[in-house]
Amino acid sequence: MNTLRHLTILGSTGSIGENTLDVVNRHPDLFSVTALTANNNIDKMLAQCKQFRPRYAVMLDTAQAERLKQAIDQSGLDTTVLSGVESLEKVASLPDVDVVMAAIVGAAGIRPTFAAAQAGKLVLLANKETLVMAGRIFMDIVKQHGATLLPIDSEHNAIHQSLPHDFGGDLPGKGIRRILLTASGGPFRNAPLDSLTNVTPAQACAHPNWDMGRKISVDSATMMNKGLEVIEAHWLFNAAPEHIQVVIHPQSVIHSMVEYIDGSVLAQLGNPDMRTPIAHAMGYPRRIESGVSPLDMFEVAHLGFEKPDFKRFPCLRLAYRALEMGDNMPAILNAANEIAVESFLDEKMPFTSIPAMIEHVMDTFEKKTMQSLSDVLEVDSNARDAARDWLGTIRQIA
Ligand code: NAD
Ligand code: MG
Repeated sequence: MNTLRHLTILGSTGSIGENTLDVVNRHPDLFSVTALTANNNIDKMLAQCKQFRPRYAVMLDTAQAERLKQAIDQSGLDTTVLSGVESLEKVASLPDVDVVMAAIVGAAGIRPTFAAAQAGKLVLLANKETLVMAGRIFMDIVKQHGATLLPIDSEHNAIHQSLPHDFGGDLPGKGIRRILLTASGGPFRNAPLDSLTNVTPAQACAHPNWDMGRKISVDSATMMNKGLEVIEAHWLFNAAPEHIQVVIHPQSVIHSMVEYIDGSVLAQLGNPDMRTPIAHAMGYPRRIESGVSPLDMFEVAHLGFEKPDFKRFPCLRLAYRALEMGDNMPAILNAANEIAVESFLDEKMPFTSIPAMIEHVMDTFEKKTMQSLSDVLEVDSNARDAARDWLGTIRQIA
């Protein structure tokens, strides 16, 4: 890889976005930023524009984009400011962009991530929600348009690194028995079960090992994150649910493993820092410096493993159920989860209502096949409405 890679970063002001820019900053000879996008953080976006001089900066919101434009003009930068979902799609598919980092959080990421795949880009996928909502449809688009998908999620990146180079989506054909998906167990792994009703958003967001955005931090506390990752692994690696075993590994040093039929288990290890999978995918197939400190085995000293407890983590059970049911169910699970997490973070309902809301919404809908992205968006919107209705009902009772 000698030529410069031109990059669009969707969600550049988030946790993954900032880590991506940290890696870019270490390799001005390898990467150039063409476009950055964000929801509403103008100050951070302006600072990023000053540092990385992108051709485009997109804010979702028009009023925020107008404010950013004024600030950009005052700074004398020649970045063009755009707004709206169509502009996110546009910068994800610009002809001279090679690589798209898909790092918007939640269902909001699906349209630009689809646009990048449709344009045949190298898609670095952090936005796992796209695969959860639209796995089959998205994988078909990737194939049809000759896009390349590399996983940023640390577990899937670790699995990718532990699979044979010529894997081709055939687990049994390559002598693979199982994928072992590691999980930290989050901040409430050992908390008394009856204390969970009272946990606060701040406690749920205080992850023991990883520093991440608020939505994925709550997902880690409920272990819905692992459930979404089981679905993600299913689509990325063509793995049946029974071939994906979740293993609780509290130190987050082993980022996942692949078990072969001869008894070999291959793993990828490292300090829990997202710059490792980001640098791996950005430089692929070459290895590049990421700024992550070397793993000190003597300091780690011990590695622990536990079975996941579905009673403590009902969201994990719901995710397996959605995957087994298939069709629209994972999209319904995802939509209900997003409303549930948002309602918990806004202190409108307790932590323990998260699985209750999701289960209720899953039970509300019939299983139905989805054919297109617009079908997926409709399922998503209906499931969100059902989740909000349920919240209204329980708040009335309370
Ligand atoms: P974050 O909340 O820190 O950042 C989200 C980014 O998306 C921000 O730039 C924000 O401006 C943008 N955004 C939010 N809502 C938007 C909307 N409606 N339209 C357009 N842009 C919007 O999130 P994060 O932790 O960086 O996570 C991003 C994605 O990466 C998620 O899908 C998450 O599951 C995945 N992921 C994150 C980590 C991590 O360590 N943070 C690890 C693995 C996977
Ligand atoms: Mg992960």
